[in-house]
Amino acid sequence: MSTSTSSSRYTCEICGITFNTINEKEEHVKLEHEEHHPPTGVG
Ligand SMILES: [Zn+2]
Repeated sequence: MSTSTSSSRYTCEICGITFNTINEKEEHVKLEHEEHHPPTGVG
């Protein structure tokens, strides 16, 4: 296990942008990487 860095930052695993808060990252992912969920549910 690797200890996280002192500075708590959230990095977008899609494009690699760092955010100060997870809210910003989640919003960024939803806005920039919004995906259309398929009608078919995969179990
Ligand atoms: Zn991103």
